[in-house]
Amino acid sequence: MGKILIIGAGGVGTVVVHKVAQNSDVFGEIMLASRTKAKCDVIAADVKSRYGVTVLTAQVDADVVSELVTLLQSYKPELVLNVALPYQDLTIMDACLEAGVNYMDTANYEPKDEAHFEYSWQWAYKEKFEKAGLTAILGCGFDPGVTSIFTAFAAKHHFDEIQYLDIVDCNAGDHGKAFATNFNPEINIREVSQRGKYYDNGTWVETEPHEIHQALNYPKIGPKESYVIYHEELESLVKNFPTIKRARFWMTFGQEYLTHLRVIQNIGMARIDEVDYNGVKIVPIQFLKAVLPNPGDLGENYTGWTSIGCRIKGFKNGVEKTYYVYNNCSHEAAYKETGMQGVSYTTGVPAMIGAMMFMKGLWRKAGVYNVEEFNPDPFMEQLNLQGLPWHELHDIDLEL
Ligand code: NDP
Repeated sequence: MGKILIIGAGGVGTVVVHKVAQNSDVFGEIMLASRTKAKCDVIAADVKSRYGVTVLTAQVDADVVSELVTLLQSYKPELVLNVALPYQDLTIMDACLEAGVNYMDTANYEPKDEAHFEYSWQWAYKEKFEKAGLTAILGCGFDPGVTSIFTAFAAKHHFDEIQYLDIVDCNAGDHGKAFATNFNPEINIREVSQRGKYYDNGTWVETEPHEIHQALNYPKIGPKESYVIYHEELESLVKNFPTIKRARFWMTFGQEYLTHLRVIQNIGMARIDEVDYNGVKIVPIQFLKAVLPNPGDLGENYTGWTSIGCRIKGFKNGVEKTYYVYNNCSHEAAYKETGMQGVSYTTGVPAMIGAMMFMKGLWRKAGVYNVEEFNPDPFMEQLNLQGLPWHELHDIDLEL
C-alpha cells in the first residue's frame, strides 16, 4: 500500500480517481490536487458516495516548482501521477526530484510556445532520477501506454523480430455535437493539425497533415477512414525495439471533424501565439478551448465504441507472422462507471494500472523509462480485470 498524489482534475483525472478508489487495497491514501480545488472536491464527493473511499484534495499550480515541492513535502506521497497537461511534465519532475518522490505521466512534455513534442526533454532526466534512486514512468495512458505495452507483449510472446508496426486508433463514438475534442482541446488540436511523420528504415518521413489515408476495418465497427499522424510512442518504440523497419500511427477522423479543423486553422483560431484583443493579450487556441464543449461533459450522450490496437508483422521461429491485439471500449459503459466518456476512460484506467504496478513493486527501477521497458504481463492481466479487456488475432490480413 502506498500514498498516491494525482495532479489534474480533468476528464482523465476523474477516471484515475475512480479507478484508484476501486482499488483502495493497493493505494493506502489518495490525494487529488489541481489548479482549481473546487473541481477536485466535486470528484472526491462523487467517489465518496459511490465507493465510500475518502479522497483528500488540494490546490496547486503545477507550473510552479516551489508550490509543488511544498505540497509533496507535506503530503509525502510515494508516487505522483501527473494527469494535468504536458506543459507541466518538467516542473512536476523537478519537484519530484527535490522532494524525493517517484513520478508517472500519460503524455510527453510539450513547451507551451511550440506545438512540438518529443521525449528528449524528459529522457534528459534519466541520470538525475537514477542518482536519486527514484522511478519515473513515462506515457502510461492508452496511446502512448497500452499500445506500447501491446508491442512489448507481442515482442515477448509472439515474435523473435518485429518488423512492421501499425498502431490503429479508431473512435467511432458519436457525442451529438457538431465539433468537440475528446480530450483537452488545446493539446488535441495541436496534436492532430501538425505535419504527419512515420518511421521507415532508420529515418523519419514527413508528410503534409493527413496526406496518407486509407479505410481500415475495426472490430465491431467496420471500415473507417484512417490517417497517418505522428504520435509520441513511435519515438520510444523504434528505439526500444530496434528490429522495427517501419512504424506508423493511424487515427480515424470523420469528414465533419476535418472540415471544422481546417476552418479553425484557416481563420487563425489554432494559433498558439499571443494576439492583442482590445488591449488584452489572448492566445487564440486557449480562447477556442473556452468556447468549445468541455470534453469532460461529453459522456452523457456519447454512444459507440473506441477501438485501439497494434497490427504487427514480423518473424517467429523463422516463419513470417501477423498479429493484431486490440481493445474495444464502449463510451456508454465508461460513462456509467465513471461519469466520463471512453477517451478519458481508456487513458485513466491504464494510468491507474501503471500506478498499481509501481505500488506492487513490479515496475520499479531508478531512472526514467517508457512503459514498454517494464514487464508487460502483469499489466496485461490487469487490463482484463479493470475494464479494458483485449483480444488477439493471429495470422490475419492486416490490410497494411
Ligand atoms: P483536461 O483539460 O480535462 O484536464 C487537465 C487538468 O489539469 C484540469 O483539471 C486543469 O485544471 C489541470 N491543470 C492544467 N494546468 C494546471 C496547472 N498549471 N496546475 C495544476 N493543474 C493544472 O485534460 P484531460 O484530462 O483530457 O487530459 C489530461 C492529460 O492526459 C493530458 O496531458 C493529455 O495529453 C493526456 N492524455 C493522454 C492520452 C493517452 O492515451 N496517453 C489520451 C488523452 C489524454 P483546471 O480544471 O483548473 O483547468
